[in-house]
Parts: sequence; structure tokens; C-alpha cells
Amino acid sequence: MRLSNYFLPVLKENPSEAKIKSHQLMLRSGMVRQSASGIYSWLPLGLKVLKNIENIVRDEQNKAGAIELLMPTIQSADAWKESGRYDDYGKEMLRIKDRQDRDLLYGPTNEELITQIFRDNIKSYKNLPLLLYHIQWKFRDEIRPRFGVMRCREFLMKDTYSFDVNKQDAENSYKKMFLSYLKTFDRLDLKAIPMRADAGPIGGDLSHEFIILADTGESEVFLDKNLLDINIKKIDYDQNNIKNIMNKYENFYSATDEKHNIDQFNKLVDKKNQLHTRGIEVGHIFYFGDKYSKSLKAAINTKEGKNTYPQMGSYGIGVSRLPAAIIEAKYNNQYMKWPKSITPFKVTIINLGKKGDEVDKKSDDIYHILKNNNFDPLLDDLSDSPSSKFKNHDLIGIPFQIIIGSKMKKEEYEFKELGKNKIILSKNEIINRLKEIYESDQPS
Ligand code: ATP
Ligand code: MG
Repeated sequence: MRLSNYFLPVLKENPSEAKIKSHQLMLRSGMVRQSASGIYSWLPLGLKVLKNIENIVRDEQNKAGAIELLMPTIQSADAWKESGRYDDYGKEMLRIKDRQDRDLLYGPTNEELITQIFRDNIKSYKNLPLLLYHIQWKFRDEIRPRFGVMRCREFLMKDTYSFDVNKQDAENSYKKMFLSYLKTFDRLDLKAIPMRADAGPIGGDLSHEFIILADTGESEVFLDKNLLDINIKKIDYDQNNIKNIMNKYENFYSATDEKHNIDQFNKLVDKKNQLHTRGIEVGHIFYFGDKYSKSLKAAINTKEGKNTYPQMGSYGIGVSRLPAAIIEAKYNNQYMKWPKSITPFKVTIINLGKKGDEVDKKSDDIYHILKNNNFDPLLDDLSDSPSSKFKNHDLIGIPFQIIIGSKMKKEEYEFKELGKNKIILSKNEIINRLKEIYESDQPS
């Protein structure tokens, strides 16, 4: 993409309403714009990051055996009245009346609707286990939207729902999602720590929040530092693997402030391994038995010819919270560097020449070569000063830069990985280097 043909409205100053780094950076680098309190438009650069995250989330769901569908954002209130949550949900639910005076709502979550779909289409144990998910916008009329897309009112969530014949199978589905979440966050280059959590208004008795550590997080957390060293790479969805990895996590103490027990913490964790910090919730999983299948009468036949209510769980990931959470976790006081798995462009070419000169031609040439090699390059062909170009590129955080000025010999290019020194490479070396970087499975 040529910057002259793109839409990237960067801001020179930090907008005064933005209190934390990710919010400032997302506004300044032209990723998002607020359209109403807690409601955002995603501009092209932000949308690219969001889509890249969404694709990784989707891929890991598919690998775990979940099946994608798409439910609407607007729901009828009927199923919510059946489950009893229409009254319980309170002011966070945006309630709407249509022209026939029917009660509708903008979905804050989908337990009711998915159970209704299940009820109307599945009658037999033979169809279970079943994991269904969608990636859809939600609306919660949060009392205090803040921190940009971190806590907003309209946000994109991946939510999966599991249906099983009995508790043991339901626990297997839960564990599958548990591992899938660890893998998903690992691919986003994040260390997400699963912590025992309260099930809250969804109800149920087994629940984990996935938290990434960041000073600006809203949750206060306590954990054993050993948790940070568990490596889940290359672990597949074999039931034994899942059990082992879950046991590993369960062996170490971790809790959000609601579940924290100071005596247990001191008893189980050496002083030197105790970590008391803050974190951002990026995912939350629940097992809640037959709470919804029973209230919505979604019974199935068992092998023995009896009727039973399937055991269910639900599993959310805050897809549109993640770009902000990743910035909070990765920003290092000088610049942002996107993990290579989700970077909006793989490489940027900073052309320091003038229209039609040798530098400009050289930039164009490498731009075409990189494009043909599927590196999705961004070419800065604007007429800004070099210093303003450098500033803007550090701001947007594309991890690799090729800098083309008049000082270099014809066959030489300056190549820079953000945060490291520039090196001089030939065209072929650049291509090989980028191939190595993007084809290896090292996260960044
Ligand atoms: P929180 O405790 O942050 O309010 P929650 O427990 O109400 O979240 P869940 O129902 O578990 O949220 O939703 C699943 C995921 O959706 C959360 O883990 C979070 O990443 C994301 N999420 C929830 N509320 C918001 C919001 N207001 N803005 C952006 N993302 C959100
Ligand atoms: Mg939650």
C-alpha cells in the first residue's frame, strides 16, 4: 500500500481524553475514532490489526473443533424472558422496541440465543459433544466506558458455547477451550495467565479468567511467578496433554482480588515468587451445567432412551479489547512494536527521496518486489520531512523498516527492526531475512 493512497490520519499530540498509553496510541496512529461514548469506528490501520487478531482466534477455535456460525446482534427478548435474565441483566442491556411494540435488545452475550438454536435443531445425544462459536459485536451499556476500546460499550467478542451429555464430557470441552485460549494468546505473543474466577451473572461453578499482566489493567492479581515460565508451544489437543497442562497451571497459585486468599498465598508460594500486580482480562470461560438448557427446555435423548438437559459452558475472548491490551503489554516507553503475527503491515519502506529521483525509483522497485513476495509492504511516499516520517513510523509500530536515502550505494539498503540498530543489506538479503522472520514460529 502506498501511503499517498491510504487513509492514515495520525495525530501529532496526545488527545486529552486519552489517559492510558493504548488509548493515546490508537488515536494517534489513526487506528480508531470515537463516534459516541464507548462506541468506536475502526479506521483502516486498526481494522487490519483487529482482523489479524480475529483470524488467529478463529483458527485456534477451528483447531479445537469448535464450529463457526453467526448470530445476529439484535435479539428478541423472548428467550431472555424464559431464562429469567431479561429482568436480572439490569441497565447494561440496551433494550429496544420495534414498530410493532415488540421487545428487542442488542445482545450483550448469547447463551439464550444459542440454546434456542440448539433446542430447535438438536434432540439426540448422538450430536454431542458440540462446540459452536461466533465472532460478533456485543453491546453493554457500561456505566463508565473508558480507556478507549478496552472498556467500551460496543465491542467485538468471540463467544463459544459447549453442549455435552454429562458433566465429565462438559469438563473435557472446558479443558479443550482452556488449552485453546493458551494457544491463542501465545500466538498473539501474550502471556495470558488463567486465574480461578467468579462466574458472576452467567452463573455456574467452574470459571477461569485469562489475564495479561499490565500496570494499567483493571484487575488486581496475585500469582506465583512460576506461572510465567510454563511453555505450551507445540502441545496438541490430545485429552492427556490437556489434562497435564491444566494440572500444571492448577499447581501454582493465581487469583484475582475477588478470589484472593492471603493465607493460602503465603502458605503455597515462596516470598521470592510472590507477584502482586495488575492485569487485563482478555478472556473468560465458564462451565454452568444445565442453567440455560433447563430454563429454555432444550432437552435431548440419552443413549438409555431417557431425557436430559445438556451440560453447557461458555467461552469469551475480547477480540476488540486485544489490540489495546497488546499495546499495554508491549509498549516500551519509546515506541510500539506489533507482534509479527498481527502487525498491520509486515514491513514499511521509508522513502526519503523526492518524486521521480533515484531514491524514489529505488523505493518503488523494492516496494514491487516485496509486494510480489506477499510481504504486504507499506510505502511511505509522502513529501514529509525525514524526521516526521521516522516519528510516524515509530508511532504506527510496524516491526521492520527499510530506509531509502541518497547516502546508500545503489545495491545497499538500510534495514531496521524497531528497537534495534540499523544494518545494511542487499535486496536479496532483505527478502531472505523477511522470509526467515515471517516463516519461523518464533512469536516476535
Ligand atoms: P469485565 O469483567 O471486564 O467487565 P466481563 O466479565 O463482564 O468483563 P465477559 O462476559 O466474560 O466479560 O466477556 C468476555 C470478554 O469480553 C472479556 O474477557 C473481555 O475481554 C471482553 N469484554 C467484556 N466487556 C467488555 C467491554 N466493555 N469492552 C471491551 N471488551 C469487553
Ligand atoms: Mg469476565
